[in-house]
Amino acid sequence: MPIYVYQSITPEKSCGLCASSFERFQSFSEATLTECPECHAPIHRIIQPVGMRVGKKHLLTDDNVKKHGFTKLVNEGGGKFRKI
Ligand SMILES: [Zn+2]
Repeated sequence: MPIYVYQSITPEKSCGLCASSFERFQSFSEATLTECPECHAPIHRIIQPVGMRVGKKHLLTDDNVKKHGFTKLVNEGGGKFRKI
């Protein structure tokens, strides 16, 4: 099962769990979480390229990510993320 990483959209209004980020084991058929299980703040899923098996890298190309309705965040350092 893949590990998905979630993070609050509004970290300043969120609990300690989602203000940074947290991981969830979920099957592909499971619905994407839209709110924090602790404080119910709106959250979004972060695509984690780390740990992807070789041969699946193409799934995370910018175009493919966009096509499937995901948002890809690029860490620019200093806690800033850029949306693609
Ligand atoms: Zn929370």
